[in-house]
Amino acid sequence: MLIDPFERQVTYLRVSVTDRCDFRCFYCMSEHMSFLPKADLLSLEELDRLCGAFVALGVKKLRISGGEPLVRRGIMTLMHRLGRHLKTGALDELTVTTNASQLERYAEELVDCGVRRINVSLDTLDEANFVAITRWGKFAKVMAGIEAARAAGLRVKINTVALSGVNDAEIEDIVRWCGGKDMDLTFIETMPMGEIDGDRSAQYLPLSEVRARLAKRWTLDANDHQSGGPARYVSLRESGQRVGFITPLSHNFCESCNRVRLTCTGNLFMCLGQDDAADLRAPLRASDDDAAVIAAIREAISRKPKGHDFIIDRTREAPAVSRHMSVTGG
Ligand code: SAM
Ligand code: SF4
Repeated sequence: MLIDPFERQVTYLRVSVTDRCDFRCFYCMSEHMSFLPKADLLSLEELDRLCGAFVALGVKKLRISGGEPLVRRGIMTLMHRLGRHLKTGALDELTVTTNASQLERYAEELVDCGVRRINVSLDTLDEANFVAITRWGKFAKVMAGIEAARAAGLRVKINTVALSGVNDAEIEDIVRWCGGKDMDLTFIETMPMGEIDGDRSAQYLPLSEVRARLAKRWTLDANDHQSGGPARYVSLRESGQRVGFITPLSHNFCESCNRVRLTCTGNLFMCLGQDDAADLRAPLRASDDDAAVIAAIREAISRKPKGHDFIIDRTREAPAVSRHMSVTGG
């Protein structure tokens, strides 16, 4: 088992399989991003081996993310390989966070790999707004992707970043749209990660405001649902649907953190909001035996910090952490 210095058991690994993406969401990336040289990436076999080491150490939930994970070449080979841990019972859940652009193509195969639920990031239902937010995204393709996922039997949860002056007028519409399709919905606050083209503080919308808006239309009942992630939920009494809130800034979500994050170059980040990382690529490549990599994982977990120090304010020009969310996959 992996237990950190604060007695938290690490059971959840998020893996960013690529830092590249077919979108350029303005709050996530600048329009002209420089990406890692392909030669620096771990191979799919190496990613599989590393994930296997984590599963052997008690990780029960794997989330494949990015960048856009479904644009990595050969991604389904990795998904099929990882699915074997579900069959043995070592892993409880294999899941994906995606922008849905490739779901028409891959939804059924994801089900074949053992995936049952996915998170789709969607910040607007308005096509013009969608283009303004994602810069390169194709709205119709995303909508078709979401329908393909539902048709394949995947449970879809929508993740929406709350953005002041961008999608705040759509909050109620997004809630109703998700309710109508029986999809859970989670709102997320923007986090100060990586340089982007604009001013992040102008777009920051505290979820306390989103919650207050929802409370004007619906009766919010406490809901103690635990997804294994950082979201806290309410139920809307009138529609019965569940809405989650991920509030890394306005509320500390670190106390029960069970997560670590692996990048596509084999760096392990023990906290989304801190720069400390452990290199797992060197011990992985040093030997075919997993002993060195397992020792490196254990050593890394012994350094897992208590929490992050995110703040967004107008007096700080630099982001709290310099890497983009796409490096660690959120
Ligand atoms: N491309 C995939 C997607 O968009 O679902 C997976 C990677 S994306 C980095 C994962 C999640 O991080 C998305 O829900 C996205 O909205 C969110 N995200 C990206 N940058 C963020 C930021 N600075 N603050 C908060 N959420 C962010
Ligand atoms: Fe790509 Fe996801 Fe970042 Fe948007 S949020 S640019 S889809 S990685």
